[in-house]
Amino acid sequence: MSSFRKRALDEFASHRAERFYVEERPVSEYFGQKVFDVEKMRRYLSAEAFEAVQQAIGEGLKIDRSIANQIASGMKSWAVENGATHYTHWFHPLTDATAEKHEAFVDPSKNGGVFENFKGDALVQQEPDASSFPNGGLRNTFEARGYTAWDPTSPAFIMDQTLCIPTVFVSYTGEALDHKAPHLKSLQALDKAATDLCRLFDHKTNRVNVMLGIEQEYFLVDEALYRARPDLMLCNRTLIGHTSAKDQQLEDHYFGAIPSRVMAFMKDFETEAYKLGVVLKTRHNEVAPNQFEFAPYFAEANLSVDHNLMMMILMRKIAKKHKLKVIFHEKPFAGVNGSGKHCNWSMVTNNGVNLLSPGKTPRTNLQFLSFFVSVTRAVYEHHPLLMAGVATLNNSYRLGGNEAPPAVMSVFAGKLLTSVLDSIEKMSEDDASSQDQTHHKLDIVNKIPEILPDNTDRNRTSPFAFTGNRFEFRAVGSSANVSAALYPLNAAVAQQLKRFKELVENLMKEGVDKEEAFLKVIRQFIIESRNIMFEGNGYSPEWHKEAERRGLRGIKDLPSAFKTYLEENSIKLFEETNVLTEREVEARYEVMNETFIKKLQIEARVLGDLTLNHIIPTAIKFQNTLIDNVRGIKELFEEDEYKTMSERQLITIRKISGYIEILRKETKELIEARKVANQIEECEEKAVLYSNTVLPIMTSIRTVADKLEMLVDDELWPLPKYRELLFWR
Ligand code: ADP
Ligand code: MG
Repeated sequence: MSSFRKRALDEFASHRAERFYVEERPVSEYFGQKVFDVEKMRRYLSAEAFEAVQQAIGEGLKIDRSIANQIASGMKSWAVENGATHYTHWFHPLTDATAEKHEAFVDPSKNGGVFENFKGDALVQQEPDASSFPNGGLRNTFEARGYTAWDPTSPAFIMDQTLCIPTVFVSYTGEALDHKAPHLKSLQALDKAATDLCRLFDHKTNRVNVMLGIEQEYFLVDEALYRARPDLMLCNRTLIGHTSAKDQQLEDHYFGAIPSRVMAFMKDFETEAYKLGVVLKTRHNEVAPNQFEFAPYFAEANLSVDHNLMMMILMRKIAKKHKLKVIFHEKPFAGVNGSGKHCNWSMVTNNGVNLLSPGKTPRTNLQFLSFFVSVTRAVYEHHPLLMAGVATLNNSYRLGGNEAPPAVMSVFAGKLLTSVLDSIEKMSEDDASSQDQTHHKLDIVNKIPEILPDNTDRNRTSPFAFTGNRFEFRAVGSSANVSAALYPLNAAVAQQLKRFKELVENLMKEGVDKEEAFLKVIRQFIIESRNIMFEGNGYSPEWHKEAERRGLRGIKDLPSAFKTYLEENSIKLFEETNVLTEREVEARYEVMNETFIKKLQIEARVLGDLTLNHIIPTAIKFQNTLIDNVRGIKELFEEDEYKTMSERQLITIRKISGYIEILRKETKELIEARKVANQIEECEEKAVLYSNTVLPIMTSIRTVADKLEMLVDDELWPLPKYRELLFWR
């Protein structure tokens, strides 16, 4: 067997299920051990410092310098007692990864020794030498400074003996350079709009939080096999590889018994996750072989995103100990399910009322419906933008494929709720304006049963489904920072909530009774959102036609999806909600194009390498053995016998020659296409060219390489095959 693949398979065979560390104590005893949470703040901070942090968290008040020093000192004491030697500002630049630059706590002391030191300034703000993060032109090189600023709403934690301080990342001029800043601003906008609307029902509401529960799907691959695949190593996905005879068709993996090596990994991972204060709730096998999922209990959105990113880092580290590789890519293997990050999204008041949970009284149901229709209206208004928010190169390989949400947006409400919405819509305008009918109409509102959460049917084909007390945004990709997908949603909902309230107030000013006014606006929003509501099978071709008929815009190609950000409607949304300025949006647009181009460029290079240096030489080697064989037959046998004996082999030899020729030709074309595209300066134009010329050649090369894999002697094939990568247990 090809030594490359053989070595990998041999090494893999020696890997066993191992547990490195067994935590015997109940989880409740060590939960949050590595987090500087409220309880630790109380212990390590003065009353004054504690109060200041709480106010910064609750009301966004600024922390003054002297107090910052006190907080830093308390945080340092806790961190050092818990083994930390370094600290870092932890931030989320516009890449797929988080960033950190570690500083040691120690400073030299006068007597030649060292002492642990951590000042307020270092806690609150830092200036990382950050000129090489994507910035879309927001930072000129002559003013390459970027600042990280402490986000006190997400608690500091210790990972790898380093105190990690969650921060936002902004330019010298204050423009956002990360995923966190616009997400936080969108949460603020939504809080304001939702609280204002709530106060028409309940004066005691003074805050609305977005709650987020993120289901993370991922693949696990044996490390030795992973290393033997240049495409997995460099692109996190296989660029070639014939499907395995058996993959997910027997549906025997989903919820199946978790393999022992995976279980060992999961247990180690969970122990560390609990210490980091993440309430992991579920773990199970997913649909594709060696695909898995975990979901923590939902939390406030900003914290939930940080937790998700922490978990991704942690999983990579723990997997290493188990000689595994975690693959977060949305579509690492063609032909089997891809991975998503389902975002369960709801709005909850400071009094604990879930605004997306139907209530028991007409009044609370009126409130529920107001919020529900504001979300559907928002999704309709900005559906192209919401799709653009999940449009990445990785995710584009997944969306619309095997059991993945379609690349066009729709909202699923469920049978019961749909019938309620229908009956409200059917009320005539007259009905809606005559006072004595109000009672009857509220009856309809009353018909939403209290137990709705258990009653909702599940439609797993919808990219945005209501599941009884929350929406599940399923189109988000598994490797994404979900903030990027969520800030457009939060902003869009904030915009509609504000509009909803204004419309109600206008009606009330005209003398319309309050409940009547609510019902009228709910009805208006239902009518306006009609086109986005879809209860059927989102995977079916009929839906694609229907969506087009309704004028819904999906992702056709990535460069045009990115362009949605620059549309007037999008910019207006971001500026109105104070989430991003036009300049910031433009910068992000640049970064999206740049990232797309660079990723595709890397994939195209790796594919070229695989074809020229792995596949073609292997095919030639195999072809030569066939040729030798035919020659031998010719020497040994009579003409007649030779003819029958060599006929099929000659066909195969010709076939292989043909494929090799196509591969050579297409690889050359691929290189040419890249060259032409690379000469273009302008980011947008370059992205379009990459999308239109490079991408299709890659698809075509793959088809041919996969055909060769089926022809060539298994012994010779250099790359671990799908059956090995997916069934390594
Ligand atoms: P599924 O059946 O969709 O796979 P899971 O149990 O895997 O569900 O995940 C559901 C996620 O939704 C969990 O993270 C859970 O905590 C979260 N969740 C539950 N209720 C809410 C809510 N009201 N708001 C936000 N997230 C929620
Ligand atoms: Mg799940």
